[in-house]
Amino acid sequence: MIRYALRCDQGHAFESWFRSSSAFDSQRKRKLVSCPTCNSVKVEKALMAPRLGKNSRSGSEASASEASASEATVAPGGEAAPEPVALVSAQERELRAKLKELRDLVVSKADNVGPNFPTEARKMHYGDIEHRPIYGEASGEEARALIEEGIEVAPLPVVPDDRN
Ligand SMILES: [Zn+2]
Repeated sequence: MIRYALRCDQGHAFESWFRSSSAFDSQRKRKLVSCPTCNSVKVEKALMAPRLGKNSRSGSEASASEASASEATVAPGGEAAPEPVALVSAQERELRAKLKELRDLVVSKADNVGPNFPTEARKMHYGDIEHRPIYGEASGEEARALIEEGIEVAPLPVVPDDRN
C-alpha cells in the first residue's frame, strides 16, 4: 500500500491509500479518486517539500513537532477569497448618504447652540425655556451627565465632507 498526499484543482489537500502507483494512476483516470471536500476528480499528487537537514542535534520531540509543522505547511492553502470591496464600499456610500441626509435635516431644523448645548438642553429639560430642536457641542462627559439626568441626547452623525 502506498499513501499519497493529493490535492484537487480547488487546492484541497487530502491523503489516500493505493495498492500501488499504477493503481493510483488507473483509478484517477477512471475518475475514482475524488476530493473529499469538493468531490472534484481533478486530483493530482501533491508536491511534497523535501524535509530539510535531518540533524538530530535538536531534541527528538522538538524536531518531530517541527517536522509535522513543516508537513502541514506543504498542504496547499487555497488562496484567500478576495474581499468584496466593491460591495462594502457601495453599502458604505449608501450609509454615508443616509447619515448626511439625517444630519442635514437636523441642522436645517435645529438651532446651533454650539458649546452651550449642555446648558440649553438642561434649561429645556427643567422647563426654564421652551422646547425647541437644538444641536451643539458636548463632551462625552457632558453628554453622559445629561443622559444620567434623563435628558435625551444623541450624537449627531459625523459625515466626512472630503468624500463628497
Ligand atoms: Zn477539493
